[in-house]
Amino acid sequence: MFDYSHEISHEWQRRTTLKRFRAGLVRREAICDADFLLCAAARYHGTDAARPCPVCEETMRNVLWIYGEDLGRRSGTARSEAEIDDIVHEVGPVSVHTVEVCLNCRWNYLLKEVTAAPVV
Ligand SMILES: [Zn+2]
Repeated sequence: MFDYSHEISHEWQRRTTLKRFRAGLVRREAICDADFLLCAAARYHGTDAARPCPVCEETMRNVLWIYGEDLGRRSGTARSEAEIDDIVHEVGPVSVHTVEVCLNCRWNYLLKEVTAAPVV
């Protein structure tokens, strides 16, 4: 068991980015730029997102990335919630970034950052 806290949401920036895209101020290539690694992580470690892709309407994947000084080489890797559960019990709190990725058009966005900590 673990808890999420200290949430930093990037929803407002996401809306602003999409507004600028729809107004023609941002090119599609600039926002639909998920690279091979991000797409692979979304495919193998991600879960289906509740919302459709804001650019092409296809189903997106949400993928969780973990960061932390105590993680060593595991910092900056994509993980399932079950793996994060094991890891926070091993090393303590870690930062978890949720990124949505569209495997169809390669739209991707950092939705939020939270701290995952073991429930004591
Ligand atoms: Zn898309």
